[in-house]
Amino acid sequence: MADMTKEQFETRLETIYKGEVQALTKYLNQRCTMVFHCSECKTVFFGKASLIIGTKEQFLHKCGFPYGDIDGNRFHIVPKRGDSTEALKKKAKKNTVKEGQKQKESIALRSKKFYELVWNDYTYQKIAKELQVNPQIIKDHFIREGLINK
Ligand SMILES: [Zn+2]
Repeated sequence: MADMTKEQFETRLETIYKGEVQALTKYLNQRCTMVFHCSECKTVFFGKASLIIGTKEQFLHKCGFPYGDIDGNRFHIVPKRGDSTEALKKKAKKNTVKEGQKQKESIALRSKKFYELVWNDYTYQKIAKELQVNPQIIKDHFIREGLINK
């Protein structure tokens, strides 16, 4: 499939999510992993560009449902604030479907890391560094959401 332009991507994102899902990171091509924010359920999640606007239902963002991880896989476990590593491993076990237990655990732990970052540090500089994106993008987002002042 030929790559979409940034404009085509944004138009499709807008059409599918009616403006509720915004990209926080830059669109490079369809294979890149991006960070998105949904203004409806107020969550930040990872997703591969091609999947988030794709035709496969399971990869589209659904409000209140588990989010994709950095590889574009959907989390099976949404960590709660304060969940310990052990608690997450237990949850991962309970949620075993097809994937191996090890993979489940690593996804759960990565998810935990991301949300801890958001909950605990909450500085755009740190999140930008961790996600390897331009701090200005995250800063703009934080300002838009009223999380920080200019
Ligand atoms: Zn949502």
